[in-house]
Amino acid sequence: MFENQGSPFRKLVAGVNAQVPIKNGVMTPYINFDNAATTPPFISVVNRIIDFSQWYSSIHRGTGYKSKASSEIYDSSRESVLNFVGGSPDKDCVIYVKNTTEAINKLSNMYKDIYGGGVILSTSMEHHSNDLPWRNKFRVDYININKAGRLDLDDLEKKLSFYRKSIRLVTITGASNVTGFKNPIHHIARLTHKYGARILVDGAQLVPHSFIDMKPHCSPEHIDYLVFSAHKMYAPFGIGVLIGPRATFEKCPPDYKGGGTVDLVTHNYVKWAKLPDKEEAGTPNVMGVAALVESINILSSIGMGYIDEYEKRLTEYAANSLSNIPDIELYYAAEKNFDKVSIIPFNIKGLHHSQTARILSDEAGIGVRSGCFCAQPYVQKLLNVSLMEIEERKRGILKNHPGFVRISFGMYNTFDEIDVLALMLKKIVSNKD
Ligand code: PLP
Repeated sequence: MFENQGSPFRKLVAGVNAQVPIKNGVMTPYINFDNAATTPPFISVVNRIIDFSQWYSSIHRGTGYKSKASSEIYDSSRESVLNFVGGSPDKDCVIYVKNTTEAINKLSNMYKDIYGGGVILSTSMEHHSNDLPWRNKFRVDYININKAGRLDLDDLEKKLSFYRKSIRLVTITGASNVTGFKNPIHHIARLTHKYGARILVDGAQLVPHSFIDMKPHCSPEHIDYLVFSAHKMYAPFGIGVLIGPRATFEKCPPDYKGGGTVDLVTHNYVKWAKLPDKEEAGTPNVMGVAALVESINILSSIGMGYIDEYEKRLTEYAANSLSNIPDIELYYAAEKNFDKVSIIPFNIKGLHHSQTARILSDEAGIGVRSGCFCAQPYVQKLLNVSLMEIEERKRGILKNHPGFVRISFGMYNTFDEIDVLALMLKKIVSNKD
C-alpha cells in the first residue's frame, strides 16, 4: 500500500497541476500544504456543479419540473449526510448552514432560547468559532490542556463533577486545527452523559480526515451534535452542516426567521414550519448541497480509513524529514502513537513564522499558513505566552503575534512535495544568518 511517492488520490482533485509565479516571474508547480484552511474541490464535485446547473431552481416553492428535481436532490441529501457520519435517520435532523461557524452560532442561539443560561464546558484548544459563540450567553469554562498540548481528561472530570446539573453542553473539537491532536470523543461523550449533559463535536478538522460515527442515541458514547464545513472536504465554500436531535431543535423558535420557516402567517399569528425548514430561512444553497453529497460519495467509496492511513504516512514522513533539519523547532510531531490528523506546526529558530511562510510562498510556491489559526488561547498556552505579553499586545506595544508555521496535508499531497518543502527549509535555514 502507498509504496510509490505519488498519491493514489491525486487524480481526483482539481487544480493539482497549477503553476504559480514566484520570484522574477518564474513559474513553478504550486504545492498546497494549507488544507486545514480549505481543500481544493474534487474534479467530480466541479462536474456535479456544472451538471446541476441544468436543474438549478428554487426548491419547495414551484411545481415546475426543475423545481421538483432540485427539491428531490436537496431532500434526499440529508440521508447521505447522516449515513456518512453514523447519524440516526429517525432521531437526528440535518440542518444546512454556511459553515461550521454558523452551525455553532445557531446551536448557541437555540440553547440560549431553550435553557436561558447555565454552564458550557469548552476547552483551551478550540478554534474561536467553538468558543466565542458561547460567550455572553452562558457561563463558559475551559477544560485545560496538559504539558503535551492534549486535553486534560482529569480536568474534564473535575469540572463535570464541580458544575454537575448546571452544565448544558460539553463542546470540543474532534481534532485541533493547530496541533492536529484528536480528542477521544466517545470517551468524553461517555463522561459527559454520566453527568447528564450533552456533547457537541466540532468536526471541521476531523470529518475530512477520519472515519466518524455518531453512534446510536441509546449508546452512552453517542455524539449528540456534530458540525462541519464542506470547504474542508473537497467541496465548495458556503455549505456546512449542523446535526442534532430533532426533539431539541423542535423546542425553540427559528434562529433566523423569514421565507421557508413558516407554515401559516397572519399579521398577528405565526405557525412555524416543521424541521428542518424551520431552521433554514430563505432560499437554500441547493448547489452546495449537491456538491457536498458528491464529495461524501467519493470519500465513502474510497473509505475514510484508507485516507486516514495515507495521510498518517505523509505526516510521519514529513515529521521525520523536518526533524533532521537544524534549527527547525517541530512541535507535537514526535509522538509514536500518531493520534492526530495531518497537521504539523513548526518554527525556524530566529525567524518569525510569518517570514518563513512568506519565503516558502514567494520563493518556492509552497502555500502554508502561519500565526495562531483562529485559536489564540490555545497557541498562547502552547507557547507559554505570559500575561504581560498579552497585555502589551492589547495595548499595541508588541506587534508581532506569537505563533507557528502550519503545514496541513490533504489526501492528494505526495511524499515528493514534502521533499521539496524539506529542501526549501534547509535553504532558508542556511541563508538566514
Ligand atoms: N473549527 C475548526 C477546528 C476549524 O479548523 C475551523 C476552520 O478552520 C472552524 C471551526 C471554522 O470553520 P468555518 O470557517 O468553515 O466556519
